[in-house]
Order: sequence, then structure tokens, then C-alpha cells
Amino acid sequence: MKIKLCPNCKSTSYIKSGIVNNRQRYKCKSCGYFFSVSKLGKKIDDYYVNKALQLYLEGLTFREIERILGISHVTIMNWVKKYNIKRPYNSDYHPTYKILNAKELGEYFQKSDNLTGAGVIVTELGDKFMLIKWERFRD
Ligand SMILES: [Zn+2]
Repeated sequence: MKIKLCPNCKSTSYIKSGIVNNRQRYKCKSCGYFFSVSKLGKKIDDYYVNKALQLYLEGLTFREIERILGISHVTIMNWVKKYNIKRPYNSDYHPTYKILNAKELGEYFQKSDNLTGAGVIVTELGDKFMLIKWERFRD
């Protein structure tokens, strides 16, 4: 996976600027920052570590996170261990979630039925959004 962005200013405008340690180096045309492909890779990794741990804390299972992010559940388990993440509650409910684009998200919020008695949080997920809904007070 490749994201073509300057890691410093997020500009997509950059030029090749030599090879350093066998890696293509780029120079951002907007801010002048030098970066290599491997640095971008690290940024992307960090992004997915954060997302995976966030979803874990929201109560999703390793398998669900694997389906959403396309990261193996073993990798996610290792991150949970590595960062010593513990869920702060014994969940006797399980959140439901939807993956929506910006337009669908708008439509979802237009319907008060979707929000009453539950509440939702929305988190960015690549070019879409994930909406997590709890129904924790419903027996
Ligand atoms: Zn830049």
C-alpha cells in the first residue's frame, strides 16, 4: 500500500531527489521536506496501529478488526500486547458498526431513529468513515 503524501505537510506535490541507502528520496515542492519511501511506510503503519487499537477499545473482536482493516488478527493481538492495552470494562454488550461514505453518513444522521437510545461515534477510516453504535442501556 502506498500513500503519495509529503509526511510533513501532506502535499501531493513532490519531485524525485536522488537515491539514499538504496531508497528513492523525494523532495516536497510545497515545504521542501525530504522523505523516502520507507518513511512513508512507517507513517502508514502507525496509522493502522492506532486505528486497530482504537477499534479494540471500542469492543470489536480481533476478527472484526481484521475484516475492517485487512490486518491479520495475530498482528493486532501482538499490538495489543506490545502496547499493553486493556479494555476498561467487562462488555456485556457489543457495539455494531457500519462503514459509510460522507454522503451516507449525512443521511444516517438525518434520521433521528438511528440516534435515539444509542448514540454513535464516528471515526475516519481511509477514505470512508466508520460509525460505531452502542445499545448499552437496552436489556
Ligand atoms: Zn511538504
